[in-house]
Amino acid sequence: MFDKLVNFVKKNTSKEEGNGSDNNSNNAVVEKISKLASLKFKIFFFGGLGVFLLLFLLIVATLMAIDVIDIGEDDDNYNLLSYDSVNNFSYWWPVGSMETKSINGVLYASDTPPELSISSYTGNRVINGQAGTHKGIDISAGGRIGYYNVIASFDGVVYYAYNGCEDNGSYGNSCGGGFGNHVVILHNNNVYTIYGHMASNSVKVKTGDTVKQGQVIGKIGNSGSSTGAHLHFQIDIGGYNNSMAINPLTYVDPDNPRPKTSDNKLLSMIKKFEGTGTIKDGNYLVYDDGYGNLTVGIGILISAHKDMFTTRGIDPDKLTVGSSVPVSTADAIAIEIINSYKTSVINEARSHGIDLFDYQIDALTSFRYNVGNNNCFFQHYSEYGLSEKMHTDCFSKYSMANGTYLSALARRREAEWKLLIDGIYPS
Ligand SMILES: [Zn+2]
Repeated sequence: MFDKLVNFVKKNTSKEEGNGSDNNSNNAVVEKISKLASLKFKIFFFGGLGVFLLLFLLIVATLMAIDVIDIGEDDDNYNLLSYDSVNNFSYWWPVGSMETKSINGVLYASDTPPELSISSYTGNRVINGQAGTHKGIDISAGGRIGYYNVIASFDGVVYYAYNGCEDNGSYGNSCGGGFGNHVVILHNNNVYTIYGHMASNSVKVKTGDTVKQGQVIGKIGNSGSSTGAHLHFQIDIGGYNNSMAINPLTYVDPDNPRPKTSDNKLLSMIKKFEGTGTIKDGNYLVYDDGYGNLTVGIGILISAHKDMFTTRGIDPDKLTVGSSVPVSTADAIAIEIINSYKTSVINEARSHGIDLFDYQIDALTSFRYNVGNNNCFFQHYSEYGLSEKMHTDCFSKYSMANGTYLSALARRREAEWKLLIDGIYPS
């Protein structure tokens, strides 16, 4: 928070310099007088401006400190899921929850996915007496057709979508090239994900569509060469071609996504640095943040996030100093807030054309949560990459204030740097 303020002040005070442009008088006295007058005017004008600017900055900084102004927050709409990344897998398990949420006309899975088992793994197998190689994994739907949601495992563009098969799968059925109703999504770095055998008329996307991670693209079914309701999920790397298929379990994990509040590494990291309010019997006690604002957990400003309490069955207007809020509830709210920061980091990385691992997004989210922006990182990335120069200019620099090394901040910056470089979360 302090760091946030320092940066903001630094950034905004280095703007007004160098607008000298007078002395065109030919009379020395007049010149002197006019210089004097202009000097007085300058002192008056720029002095006044300075005071005004300082006051303005102070107000802005205060508002930022109490979380009334969110700087650099954009497109919160994409922050929709309580899905967390587990084991740093950034591709999601392709089966979504039954619960969905429509945002800007796009349907997303929004809650805990059902626990469906893997009925067939990648590799050699024999079906109906014929040996073959299975290029993906099969996720069984327990006989239910058109029931479970299939979601985009990661952001991408629909490379191909087919929706013309019926729910009459059988071995060797060539509808949809054997994949039945299926969708192929092209992601970054020439990675393709394939979702096969979906239910009749359930495919919700078409070739060329842009899709978001978590977006519902269809329902599990039994179309094409399929002998029961299941999703065939395949990942091809380097091109859309069976010879490029890899074991998808090196990319996705059945535990991801699932809401796992207690396992949220980023929340733990931020908790470690921000601290929390008092915990009593599994509850956080509401406290005053020193500015007269009711606060809970990792410093959640209740007045700024009322809706998040309401949707979880807590009336925010009834909370006072000493009120109890279950740790799990406050942490879930914290994750929602952190995720909105995470989203802005992801969007910013995208806008710079930068691909980052999930743990790197976490590192930058922690940084942004504390500093208020990631400007330094993104400005330097294309030039320096993750070099020593990046470390010096954008991480250790933010541990200094007026030449003084602030040890708590230094530890924080070092932890963020370690995470960014090596994927090591602070323990
Ligand atoms: Zn399969």
